Amino acid sequence: MAINLKDVWPQERDLMIRPERFKYVRKLIKPEGCVFCSALSKGVSLESLVVYQSENVMVVLNKYPYNNGHILILPTKHCGDINEIEEDAYNEISWLIRESFKILKESFYCEGINLGLNHGAVAGAGVPDHIHWHIIPRWSGDTNFFPLIAETKLIAQSLEDTYKLLKPKFETLKERS
Ligand SMILES: [Zn+2]
Repeated sequence: MAINLKDVWPQERDLMIRPERFKYVRKLIKPEGCVFCSALSKGVSLESLVVYQSENVMVVLNKYPYNNGHILILPTKHCGDINEIEEDAYNEISWLIRESFKILKESFYCEGINLGLNHGAVAGAGVPDHIHWHIIPRWSGDTNFFPLIAETKLIAQSLEDTYKLLKPKFETLKERS
């Protein structure tokens, strides 16, 4: 079954024709200050949903996942432009993306993975001021209920279970980095 990217990534059009969803998303992800910097200050913990953190880069579970195992990879530096990321941090992000694919495949037995970056608010970024890459495990047949998942956050596996599954695996990366 062909995957329709529109079902995976929030589109500007959605925000315009579905204002209720837009309001919901804005309310959820913009409490006060930056949610990612706030998570960063709490460190690796279930509360922050951060599963990996180094000087330059962090991996955090998406609090409102589109699918089980939906993670975000981002620089620890608060910036919204890909070209503001220091070279070392960018290289570490690239490395982490590839390692994350391995971890998600062995953790969730997913058949595919979406990797995406919404650069800027008009491109669909929910937190445009702090750049983040989405990594979303996919299984054949999940497309049909994707919009439902996105709306209701009805995820089969709880965030806590996902956290417990992924954290030890990202910990082993720490030893190798
Ligand atoms: Zn930030």
